[in-house]
Amino acid sequence: MSSLTLEGAPPRAMPPAFHLMVKPRGAVCNLDCTYCFYSRKEDLYEEGASFRMSDEVLESFTRQYIEAQRVPEVTFGWQGGEPTLMGLDFFRKAVAMQEKYRKPGMKIANALQTNGVLLDDEWCRFLKEHQFLIGLSMDGPRELHDAYRVDKGGKPTFDKVYRALKLLQRHGVDFNILCVLNRVNADHPLTVYRFFKSEGVQFIQFIPAVERIVRSQARSEAECRSERHSADASWLTTNELVGSQARSEAECRPERDSDERHSADASWLATNEVTEWTVRAEQWGQFLCSVFDEWVRRDVGRVFVQSFDVALQAWVGMEPSLCVHAKTCGDCLAIEHNGDLFSCDHYVDPHYFLGNVMEMPMTELVASPFQRKFGRDKRDTLPRYCRECPVLFACNGGCPKDRFITTPDGEPGLHYLCAGYKRFFTHVAPYIRTMAELLHRGHPPAAIMDILRRKEIGAKHLSVTGGLSPTNASPLPRVSRNAPCPCGSGRKYKSCCGT
Ligand code: SF4
Ligand code: SF4
Repeated sequence: MSSLTLEGAPPRAMPPAFHLMVKPRGAVCNLDCTYCFYSRKEDLYEEGASFRMSDEVLESFTRQYIEAQRVPEVTFGWQGGEPTLMGLDFFRKAVAMQEKYRKPGMKIANALQTNGVLLDDEWCRFLKEHQFLIGLSMDGPRELHDAYRVDKGGKPTFDKVYRALKLLQRHGVDFNILCVLNRVNADHPLTVYRFFKSEGVQFIQFIPAVERIVRSQARSEAECRSERHSADASWLTTNELVGSQARSEAECRPERDSDERHSADASWLATNEVTEWTVRAEQWGQFLCSVFDEWVRRDVGRVFVQSFDVALQAWVGMEPSLCVHAKTCGDCLAIEHNGDLFSCDHYVDPHYFLGNVMEMPMTELVASPFQRKFGRDKRDTLPRYCRECPVLFACNGGCPKDRFITTPDGEPGLHYLCAGYKRFFTHVAPYIRTMAELLHRGHPPAAIMDILRRKEIGAKHLSVTGGLSPTNASPLPRVSRNAPCPCGSGRKYKSCCGT
């Protein structure tokens, strides 16, 4: 691939900042959670691959990542697999490298996602000292957590993760709970939410488990295995892939265009069927609405739920902090243990392999036309149903990975969770709009709890049909009280979201 830039100058298409999810141990993990989408990524590499990031790769990617940022703060996101399997010494080296290449005045932050099993006092002292933000994966109280989060022998893991939670708290390490919502725990919104609250958790991210069944496996396991190996052969040897890109950029570009990509995917993802642990769209919406109803009356300003923050950001016209609900994406990439760079953590596959940072400058890969188009496609491929949706400004159609159902008028490309997103954003609209109004007038959003109390939980007096609209988005349309609720529940607006 030819260089896109003059030496020393960032490529023109280079964003001022981008984010890397770093997989120092690849997909290797010490647990075997049923719904883990990343565990199968081990198959992408040759048998015998080390799945350990070398010191050379660590130093090179750290230097390139820091040099590429044109903002005063850079965050390293450590993920897996299970990144703590690298051992503490690796992370001691990582922070030393960061310090070595840190620009004057630049702040460097680290976020590490873990199942918590290996955490101990020594780890926690290190995480506290270097101000790591931890994402601890936990799916609720014991009986819900253990439904899918099991170890290699299929044994439950709740006790080990709970121990990690208490260790983090004892050491004062900043952490979020990452709670994967699946077919089982999504039916118990208040049990899950109150459990975390009762354990003193302040920051919670609910992440929907969505996975399609790969029909080709049913077609013929043997056939697919040989197909996969021959496909892998073109990219396992990085030089070969780079060679093929260099051989003919023009030839390769169409291969990576969405049509052809989709037809390639068709042999693997020919079905809209989902796995038995995948959360249903209605469950997702109902879960968030139920938790929101409790949160908005009791916990605003005390407990932080990412989905609610994202909604408030939309109503005040801010960029969402979650890529799934951003207009475009492409600035959050994944880097594997050997320096292979991919478009996104959810697109670690040969079609979205950008190159290896040990062989090509990271900036060229991030600024490449393919990656820029990948990010714009999120907006440019929305079906008309989304483009005309009253909550588009908050939802933005969700992650392209899960846009595999058709709209009511038969157009493909609708997000699998659409019904849930619509229900959630419609349901929270009057409350969030009021919170946005409070912010606008210089009051804390938490004042909504008083308003609701004073009006005897009188949401009907809130500005349901008017109020502050996001500065860069369409306001919600007026809905008459007797009209069907736009959230799709089938009930009248006055008896549902307009209550
Ligand atoms: S593809 Fe999905 S997960 Fe990846 S950056 Fe875009 S919205 Fe986020
Ligand atoms: S709620 Fe549904 S229709 Fe509306 S933008 Fe989101 S995915 Fe599209």
